[in-house]
Amino acid sequence: MDDEKALLPCPFCGAPGEIEHSEQYGWWQAQCSNCGVTCSECDINSHADAVARWNTRATPSGWVSVPVEPTAEMIQAMNDRMHEGADYIAENSIEYALFAAVYKAMIAAAPHTGER
Ligand SMILES: [Zn+2]
Repeated sequence: MDDEKALLPCPFCGAPGEIEHSEQYGWWQAQCSNCGVTCSECDINSHADAVARWNTRATPSGWVSVPVEPTAEMIQAMNDRMHEGADYIAENSIEYALFAAVYKAMIAAAPHTGER
């Protein structure tokens, strides 16, 4: 089980997802453990495919998915933009911590998908 990807929470209620399997018919299905929404298709014939299908999230037009925590590349891009011609920004620098804090504040203030 360690090499299998974890199920994301239910996109509707946030409860844990779970996998059901029918030995008789050979299908796998992901579903919410709380609200019961399912992600089923007749041709899902492996646990890994059921997990991948459940974990797929549509991104509306005009939106992008970004990490909650900024990556080093994102911090570097901010540094390059803020200080044109600037060199590499060290991860233990004050500016790195500042940019990371600014990014986190912006993510926290950002509308959730579907909100404007
Ligand atoms: Zn749910």
